[in-house]
Amino acid sequence: MNFIVAVDGPAASGKGTISRAIAARFGFTHLDTGLLYRAVARRVIDGEDPVVVARTLRSRDLERSDLRSVQVSRKASHVAADRRVRNALVGFQRDFAHSRGGAVLDGRDIGTVICPDADCKIFVFASDEVRAERRYLELSQRDPSIDLERVLRDIRDRDARDRGRAIAPLRPAENAVPLDTSQLTIEEASACAASIVDKAIRGDARTA
Ligand code: C5P
Repeated sequence: MNFIVAVDGPAASGKGTISRAIAARFGFTHLDTGLLYRAVARRVIDGEDPVVVARTLRSRDLERSDLRSVQVSRKASHVAADRRVRNALVGFQRDFAHSRGGAVLDGRDIGTVICPDADCKIFVFASDEVRAERRYLELSQRDPSIDLERVLRDIRDRDARDRGRAIAPLRPAENAVPLDTSQLTIEEASACAASIVDKAIRGDARTA
């Protein structure tokens, strides 16, 4: 079976955690596509050209431990607005999606651009305040000087860039199932997502 799950949503909505839970539950492989843009951004900060980096991205670039910083997040949403960067990363994502046994990809444009024919699409979201609080808890473990207001501002700026760009903007695919995680624990959100995938698999089996 080749079953593709597309999970899209804004920063810190919980889509990464949910995608990992789906992959574990159904035995699918998982690709965090944000990591590709973060890895490009990291090398751009180091002085390289974004398009050249996107065309020559190596698996060891994705393994760097410094891809989650505020600086890299911000730069990632800038490089992600470049059509040539996005085009260079499409092939890898589509090949991954078609790996045998099923795949979950999470990002911003999986259900709309990368895998418009995905078998199951979920759009994960949460209020700005809840998302900022989550990101703050994560970042403050590494940098105690970080403040919540700044995290909220950064998240809103990044969302605005991701939603407003001309190419592959962040938006739910027409047939995506919305999942609001604002009031849900990780376990509850993962269980909701698993039930959405489960229904899609059973629906698929019925029409096969
Ligand atoms: O998901 P994450 O927050 O790690 O993504 C970092 C940035 O990469 C996003 O703000 C967005 O600009 C970009 N991105 C994208 N398309 C994707 C995944 C991430 O444009 N599919």
